[in-house]
Amino acid sequence: MLDQIKIVLVNTTHSGNIGAAARAMKNMGVTQLVLVDPIAEIDGDAIVRASGASEILDSCITVASLDEAVADCGLVIGTSARGRHIPWPLCSPRECADKAKTAVANHNRVALVFGRESRGLTNEELHKCNAHVHIPTNPDFSSLNIAAAVQVLCYEMRLASLEEETVTSSNTWGVEWDYELAKHDDMERFFDHLKQSLVDIDFLDPNTPKQLMTRLRRMFQRTALDTMEVSMMRGILAAVQRKATIANDSAIKQQTDTQTDKQKKG
Ligand code: SAH
Repeated sequence: MLDQIKIVLVNTTHSGNIGAAARAMKNMGVTQLVLVDPIAEIDGDAIVRASGASEILDSCITVASLDEAVADCGLVIGTSARGRHIPWPLCSPRECADKAKTAVANHNRVALVFGRESRGLTNEELHKCNAHVHIPTNPDFSSLNIAAAVQVLCYEMRLASLEEETVTSSNTWGVEWDYELAKHDDMERFFDHLKQSLVDIDFLDPNTPKQLMTRLRRMFQRTALDTMEVSMMRGILAAVQRKATIANDSAIKQQTDTQTDKQKKG
């Protein structure tokens, strides 16, 4: 299980935190580290704080965007130190590890996403996640150091992985599923297609989108669509778009015909 878990750090500012996160990961047997557009470089401080886990730093991948970091993952869990405006499915670290174990048992990769030291993850980043995890800290002092947060979640992943041999893995519905979860990348393309279709049928005004796409994202991410379900949805959207084009064309033709009639009569 642990080899299918990615730890994703977004815009990390202090190199020591990257090193300490690497150490926390290696202690728990998690090895894949992805840095999204880091502010800090992997310097001497990072290596000192990694304290023997520098191979995790050596093999870590740096990418430009969160989308790129989690593109191949079927389950993306964002971490948050505090509540946000639009509530999202929220789990405890233990539930998060259970979800991860189930996802891996069903052949999916999992990403755990950690935010900036100063202000965590943006709402936009959090809305790209299937669920959020909050480490139940003291509400009056809820924000952990990022490497400490990595430690807690990797520990839960390890506990879940140790139970793996004794527990029969099944997904949420109690059976082995027939299709893999859609990967983040496919979901993002689906959301683009959904948005465009809603614009095409005049349901969504791109100038005043309000929270429509955020709420639709939440609905579909909560469901955790599989690859077949996404391809059916894309087929349905394509059919809706075709009908919308035909309806638009015939409305334009009708308008032109009426104008021509008027001109003839005039
Ligand atoms: N001041 C920021 C917190 C940043 S802490 C804020 O208010 O959002 C840096 C990162 O550590 C967070 O983005 C998150 O990934 C992780 N983290 C810290 N405390 C956490 C908690 N209680 N639960 C889950 N993740 C936490």
